[in-house]
Amino acid sequence: MADKALVLIVDDSPTNLQVLAACIKDNHRVKVATNGKQCLKIAQTEPHPDLILLDVEMPGMNGYEVCKHLKSSPKTEGIPIIFVTGLQGDDDEEKGLALGAVDYITKPIRPAIVIARVKTHVTLKLQHDKLNKMAFFDQLTGLYNRHYLIDMATKKVARALRHNYDLWVLMIDIDHFKKVNDTYGHPMGDEILKEVSALLVLDNRSEDIAARFGGEEFVVMFDPCNKADAVLKARRILHKIAKLNPHNINVTVSIGMAKLTAEDANFERLLKRADAALYHAKENGRNRIELAP
Ligand code: GH3
Ligand code: MG
Ligand code: MG
Ligand code: MG
Repeated sequence: MADKALVLIVDDSPTNLQVLAACIKDNHRVKVATNGKQCLKIAQTEPHPDLILLDVEMPGMNGYEVCKHLKSSPKTEGIPIIFVTGLQGDDDEEKGLALGAVDYITKPIRPAIVIARVKTHVTLKLQHDKLNKMAFFDQLTGLYNRHYLIDMATKKVARALRHNYDLWVLMIDIDHFKKVNDTYGHPMGDEILKEVSALLVLDNRSEDIAARFGGEEFVVMFDPCNKADAVLKARRILHKIAKLNPHNINVTVSIGMAKLTAEDANFERLLKRADAALYHAKENGRNRIELAP
């Protein structure tokens, strides 16, 4: 980790904020909030905190309510919360943990305890993030990996069929890539894969997906998208890559594209049609697009 973890401290008492911040500021980036509303606002904003130290007793929204809000939003539900409170009853601790907090620190604060607990939960959070990243993203290119694509595409296909809107899938394959490797070496091949990938995400809308399907094959999905726009966007990809000339090497791709139809029934079938179109694009001379019938 190049960056230190970001910890948000929430307490209505400035003195408490200072004491807590003093405990952890050497090893963490620290943000503070003096009420629940402020906490929710900061937590929703990127970069999201890696951990929240949350006071229970605050005027307005109390810590339990803040916790409930954080746990009910997809953007913040994954942020671990440690309650910090003067309340010492077992019930209070139970309540906090039941709401999804990972830990509980009681006042008066003992710095060594704060430091130890924060360290534990920050470590777990960062490990969790790293595993997530490995599970969803391709390491070389940073694009979504095949596993994520299939997961996501299956959902998108089901939704598009249900609501009857147009979804397009593109199968993109670099032309004669074996020759690039043979001529310039595998490390240069890797560089080219990265540059082509960067271009694929460049003007994607957030609903679109670009994934590395394997080797030098990529899948892009436009959803929802009409035919004219899908073809236009595919052409733009084709031309941009042909003009890219990474490291002065001429690189082109062939693209097979297919629109989801009711007969496809699932993503696999749709992808197969895009792949068949790709095969025709290769046969018909490469550096071109073919549409599946
Ligand atoms: P075509 O135009 O028919 O697609 O020809 P091609 O040479 O691109 O296709 P082929 O399937 O014969 O070869 C794909 C090549 O992609 C072979 C393989 O070494 C290379 N490749 C696959 N994954 C990677 C990778 O991660 N890094 C590098 N550098 N090369 C890779
Ligand atoms: Mg308080
Ligand atoms: Mg291939
Ligand atoms: Mg190829």
